[in-house]
Amino acid sequence: MTGTHFNYYQVCHRKLWLFSNGINMEHTSDLVYEGKLIHETSYPQRSERYEELEIDGIKLDYYDARNKVIHEIKKSDKVEEAHEWQLKYYIYVLERNGVEGVTGLLEYPSMRQTDKVELTDKDRKRIAEMEKEIEQITNTDECPPVINAKICKQCSYYEFCYIGED
Ligand code: SF4
Repeated sequence: MTGTHFNYYQVCHRKLWLFSNGINMEHTSDLVYEGKLIHETSYPQRSERYEELEIDGIKLDYYDARNKVIHEIKKSDKVEEAHEWQLKYYIYVLERNGVEGVTGLLEYPSMRQTDKVELTDKDRKRIAEMEKEIEQITNTDECPPVINAKICKQCSYYEFCYIGED
């Protein structure tokens, strides 16, 4: 399981299923491109100060190894629970690999807002449950239904899900 699986689980179970079954549209999405761009333009000096870290299925763009802080930058102008869970999952994976005492900073450059994220025992329990649920969803033969949500319009699977519908 990767950080992307965990993230898609938060957003939409259908998206998780499609991605897990090899249907990948991310490269066609302008929003993904914009997301990548904001990383490069908002923090040009970052790459020198922080490390990129890939471990156990997750990829951290900005990890401050000295202070054990994960910096996660979001282009969104809205704080979302899914962002917080994604960062908590990163902390969880680092813990699982023996790195203790990690915290996270969720940064929203467009709102000039930064939120501190910590992992509690309750979160650890919930993440373990989510991992089981993710496994169940990805192993089923049936694709979950469309969710008809506002976020669908920004999803890279939008055309795939709704094309041909009235
Ligand atoms: S378009 Fe909507 S229903 Fe389809 S995968 Fe994306 S979020 Fe899910």
